[in-house]
Amino acid sequence: MIKFINNLLTRRILKKHAIAFSEWNDVISKIPMLSGLSSVEKARLRKLTTLFLSKKHIVGAHDLNITQTMRLTIASQACLQILNLGIDSFNGWVEIIVYPGAFKVSRTVTSEDGLVHQKINHLSGEAWDKGPLILSWEDVSSESYLLHSGQNVVIHEFAHKLDMLNGRANGMPPLHPNMTIEDWSETLSKAYELLNKKLDNFQHSSINPYASTNPGEFFAVISEYFFTAPHILFEFCPDVYEQLKQYYRQNTLQRYN
Ligand SMILES: [Zn+2]
Repeated sequence: MIKFINNLLTRRILKKHAIAFSEWNDVISKIPMLSGLSSVEKARLRKLTTLFLSKKHIVGAHDLNITQTMRLTIASQACLQILNLGIDSFNGWVEIIVYPGAFKVSRTVTSEDGLVHQKINHLSGEAWDKGPLILSWEDVSSESYLLHSGQNVVIHEFAHKLDMLNGRANGMPPLHPNMTIEDWSETLSKAYELLNKKLDNFQHSSINPYASTNPGEFFAVISEYFFTAPHILFEFCPDVYEQLKQYYRQNTLQRYN
């Protein structure tokens, strides 16, 4: 019965709030990351984006006026991640706050010698557990309309949201029944340790060093590569690519051939 009502609601939203084709085509044609999708995938993405926008509240900070183009730019890329996972993967939170540019975050940090001090960081995005997702529009727009290999703040922050579906962001989102925790942990841990070792030895890495921060950041960064530069991720570690392919249920390498 609940499923029936949900289906009815979904159909109603898709009918009532359908994104106009002209608006949709105009925005997605500007996003290179979406150009490799088939027409069937693009149609599915438009439906998911419609549902996403009906469920999420996108607000501007510092008087930033959120236009329909901005809403579609953010939502379409977020929904690319859940193209084969479903809209429920983004359940449990509602608000997306968009700043005009990088935003300042002040945190209390305890140093190794036990001193407590305030640290100020400038961030392009942040995802709170069960809370809002925060983005800098300057970073979103520059990384959306031009393909930056391995860099996409929307993919990064929404990967954290997927990771947080089963607790804190620890690099392991809820896996599918055909996957195993052992395979995932072993594959990703090995690659994470290898990356850290390389960086400790001042060796070059094809993967953004930020991935070495912790397993949660590793998952978010490799997700950025999976969607924007899968060949680099595949060369870095084919097994990691394979795990992400199974998790996202997408073969992104095919799109870039
Ligand atoms: Zn992060």
